[in-house]
Amino acid sequence: ESLTPIYRRVLLKLSGEAFGHGGKSTGISLDETLQIAQQLKRVVERGVQLAVVVGGGNLLRGAQFSAGLDTIKQATADYMGMIATVMNGLALQDTLESIGCQTRLLSAVPMDMVCEPYIRRRAERHLENHRIVILAGGTGNPFVTTDTAAALRGREMGADILLKATKVDGVYSADPEQDPYAVRYDKLSYAKVLQDRLKVMDLGAFEHCQEAKLKILVFNYKREMAIEKAIAGKAHGTLVE
Ligand code: UDP
Repeated sequence: ESLTPIYRRVLLKLSGEAFGHGGKSTGISLDETLQIAQQLKRVVERGVQLAVVVGGGNLLRGAQFSAGLDTIKQATADYMGMIATVMNGLALQDTLESIGCQTRLLSAVPMDMVCEPYIRRRAERHLENHRIVILAGGTGNPFVTTDTAAALRGREMGADILLKATKVDGVYSADPEQDPYAVRYDKLSYAKVLQDRLKVMDLGAFEHCQEAKLKILVFNYKREMAIEKAIAGKAHGTLVE
C-alpha cells in the first residue's frame, strides 16, 4: 500500500493523554513518548512539514484543577496547564532528538531557558528546514485549551489539515461506549457538526477551522501507521471539510 503524503504542511494536535501512562493517561511515559516520536520521525522522512501542538491534560487541566476552589483561580490553574504542555514538549523534543530527528520547541508562554518563544515566521522557517516544530504553551492565554492553539496555529501557518489524534476512531453520532447504535462518520461538513452538536473539538477552535476552511481529521493515532496513513489520506477516521 502506498502511503504517499497528500499534504505538504500539517498541524498535529496531540493531547497530553498521548504521553501518559497506560489506562489512566497520567504522567509522562517514556515508552508512549518514544512510540509517538517514532511515528513522527517516519512522517517527516516522507517530506511532510510537521508542526505539533502538545496538550497537557496528562499533567493538569486548569478548569478541572480549579473547579469549586476558593484558593486557586482558574486563570492561575490555566497557566499551570500551559506550563504542563511545555513539560510534554520538552520530553517529546529530547525523545525525537534521541532517534535522530531535528526539532525545535516553541512556547507561547516565554520560557527562555528551555525553549524558543513562539514567533510565526520563525516557526515557518523551521518547518521549511524540515524540523519538527513542537508548539507548547497553548495560545498563551487562559480560558481556552490547546484545541484553540491547534486551530490558530494551523490557520496562521497555513497548514493543509489539522490532524486531531485521539484514542477513538473518529467522530460518532453518539458516544460509542454508551450507545450500541452509535455510528462513525467517514466525512462531515462543518455545518453538520454544528447542527448535530457533534464533538470534534472545542467550539471556539472548531469555528476557527470552519472560518479558515481548515480541514480537520479526527483519527485514532494508536492504530498501526496511523499518522502516516492520515497524511496519505488513508486514515480510519472522520474528515471534516
Ligand atoms: N491551557 C490554557 N490556554 C491554552 C492552552 C491550554 O489555559 O491556550 C491550559 C488549560 O488549563 C488546559 C491545560 O492548559 O486545560 C492543558 O491543555 P489541554 O487541556 O488542552 O490539554 P489536552 O486535553 O490536549 O491534553
